[in-house]
Amino acid sequence: MKNPDAPEHFVKLLVIDDDEVDKRQLKRALKASGFEYELTEYSDALSIADISLLNAFDCIFLDYLLPGDTGLRFLKKIRDEGIVTPIVMITSQGNESIAVELMKAGASDYIVKNEIDGQSISQVLRNMFRLNSMMREREEAYCALRISEARLAEAQELAKIGSWEFDAKKNSFYVSPEIYNILELDPQTPMTFEMYLAVVHPDEREKVDAAWRGALEGKPYNMDVRINPPSGVKYAHAQGRYIPDSTGALEKMMGTFQDITDRKLFEQEMMRARELAENSMKVKEIFLANMSHEIRTPMNAILGFTRLLFETPLTAEQKSYIDAIHFSGENLLVIINDILDLSKIQSGKTTLEKSVFNIRELVNGIVGLLRPKALEKGISLTSIVHHPVPTTIKGDPVRLNQILTNLISNGIKFTEKGGVTLEINSSAPKKHQCILEFKVRDTGIGIPADKHATIFESFVQASSDTTKKYGGTGLGLAIVKNLVELQDGKISLSSTDGHGSTFTVHLPCEEVTQENKQHQSSPLRTSPAVESLEQLIGAEILVVEDNPLNQMLARKVLQKAGCNVDIASNGLQALERIKMKQYEVILMDIQMPEMDGFETTRHVRTQLQPPVSEVPIIAMTAHAFGSDVAKCLAVGMNDYISKPFKADDLYLKLLKFVQPSPTRVVPFKRNDALPHHKIDLSALHELAGDNDVFIDELVLEYNRQTPAFVEKLKGYTKSQNFEAIRFICHQIRYSYGILSMAALDKALDEISTLLKMTDPGPEMTKVIKLVNTIISLISAINEAVTRGLRRTG
Ligand code: ADP
Repeated sequence: MKNPDAPEHFVKLLVIDDDEVDKRQLKRALKASGFEYELTEYSDALSIADISLLNAFDCIFLDYLLPGDTGLRFLKKIRDEGIVTPIVMITSQGNESIAVELMKAGASDYIVKNEIDGQSISQVLRNMFRLNSMMREREEAYCALRISEARLAEAQELAKIGSWEFDAKKNSFYVSPEIYNILELDPQTPMTFEMYLAVVHPDEREKVDAAWRGALEGKPYNMDVRINPPSGVKYAHAQGRYIPDSTGALEKMMGTFQDITDRKLFEQEMMRARELAENSMKVKEIFLANMSHEIRTPMNAILGFTRLLFETPLTAEQKSYIDAIHFSGENLLVIINDILDLSKIQSGKTTLEKSVFNIRELVNGIVGLLRPKALEKGISLTSIVHHPVPTTIKGDPVRLNQILTNLISNGIKFTEKGGVTLEINSSAPKKHQCILEFKVRDTGIGIPADKHATIFESFVQASSDTTKKYGGTGLGLAIVKNLVELQDGKISLSSTDGHGSTFTVHLPCEEVTQENKQHQSSPLRTSPAVESLEQLIGAEILVVEDNPLNQMLARKVLQKAGCNVDIASNGLQALERIKMKQYEVILMDIQMPEMDGFETTRHVRTQLQPPVSEVPIIAMTAHAFGSDVAKCLAVGMNDYISKPFKADDLYLKLLKFVQPSPTRVVPFKRNDALPHHKIDLSALHELAGDNDVFIDELVLEYNRQTPAFVEKLKGYTKSQNFEAIRFICHQIRYSYGILSMAALDKALDEISTLLKMTDPGPEMTKVIKLVNTIISLISAINEAVTRGLRRTG
């Protein structure tokens, strides 16, 4: 009968015994045991050439007393070879002490020769099979452990991270192999803290030592460490923590140590790349600033002189050429400004203004300015501001103006029939906050759908012949988009090729309440009120500028407004002039030989005494970056005008600093000619005699006439009504002629010659100068008459 404990297969048994009686007894017992088996027999150990073959057996019976080699020695040999097959030793009666020795040497069990029968063999084999299966399980668990250890080591190697444990009681470390790898230490040498510290970079040893001591007292650490193993500098991230025992005393510390060299090098590389990018941004900015200076300086002269040329007599042909020069010049300036604008925005240099303004006024201003262009093309330009749009808002009116002007100009440019509409609406997601919606709609050529995604990129146009047909560079929309996004707004386009376009802009703004409305500013006034220009007549201005063309241009523009102009070609000359005369404003170029504008201003502000040191200084430069403005203000300049400037812009700047002066309206002391010309009252005295009433009447008449003449002269000069100026001058000659004042006669002669020309317009500067002289002289006469004839007062 089959033994129920037997394994499924045949039991493979081996017997090594030289005694035939023993073997026979064993075979009989095996038969009686109920196991199904296959038995291999050897009479001595020496005939087994390859010991590894013993692995193939389920159990080995080995006689203790063998010829040639003893069973004990052979047993040891088998176990030394790593063979784990259960071995049952066959011993003689009463040899139990030997059995103990055999078990120590690796035997699994023993059986006494004369006790071998079916039952005992069955028992021994059952024990062996149980032992065998336990050993196999242990072997499998051991294998699984080894696999998981290998995987952990592999993962640690891949992540370049090692783990460690410090046993405080035994003062010893367990360190995973990867830590040895990272530190490049011999894995056979037991790790100590001193060994580790020796690999740490000398500059970091103090830090690491302090962290370790802190950790021993319970403070965890987590830090980057620079190490210096034989292969060169590496970076590691180290962390460690304290594990207490049940009493709270330190039992263990554990932690990890990771090689982060690649990440550190990448970070350093990124830093270097960022520095490089920042430096190249700086180089680009300097290049653009210089380029703008180089281009704007000659452009200033080209545009300025074309404007002056317009005021001279011209044939129709000449006028058309100058028109073309002026148009191209203005265009070039737009391109330069666009490039600078874009580069400023993209380098993060654009700062937004936050001021309170009236949005309806802003829109009216833009539409008023662009409507003539639309009408010229025979199309309409309308604006609709819907009711919910607040009147006053806080935001950047200059940028909003730029955005809308750009979109509407494009609309006009690309529309031949119909018109352009600007529609404004608003929603208020929060109190005092609103989202303004601007829709610029046109009925023009439209934009093909495949261009919608790229049309806001720099230098992109809807089709390749756009520049040829309409001009432009493809920068406008890129600037608009950047400006909108800078203000946290959004821009979108909806358009069908051939059927018009609609650009929609959403801009968040602050709604202005009643309380802060008084701070409202009107930033968009672009030309000075005509009346205030009077303030500039006779103003003493010093222009510090090295470029002869720009000197000439500044002189002309300023003289046109009636200013008295002196020129200095550099800072040193300017300082000489300042010592001799108190100027009302200095216009200061920045880049000049000998002494530049910054240094000159610094000298004026710090080395000279008031009132000279307080003279208003306006920087006049072709640079256009915010940093330049800041630098100008930092050295003590009062304001800044960028070249090329329009005459009106310069006048506006000057008006901020030139004080209204009643003495200048009668610029007696300013007119070099006057002091040399005495006013002879003898003829008047003779005429009046002692008749007090007549004298009073005469003085009254001069007092009445003089301001009236002055008023009229100024008014007609402004309106360039030359006929009327001539008539007034004629009346002046009649009224004041009795005094035979040579200076007045000379001025009246000169102006009448000028005014006889068919178009005295181009000689406007001379006319203004002469009118000023005449005003000064008649005012002086009035004063002299009042003082000289009145006997009382
Ligand atoms: P520019 O007009 O100087 O070329 P923009 O960036 O302002 O540059 O416009 C880019 C291109 O987008 C234009 O060249 C034109 O092809 C197209 N575009 C812009 N606005 C309109 C519009 N309202 N209608 C049709 N096409 C337009």
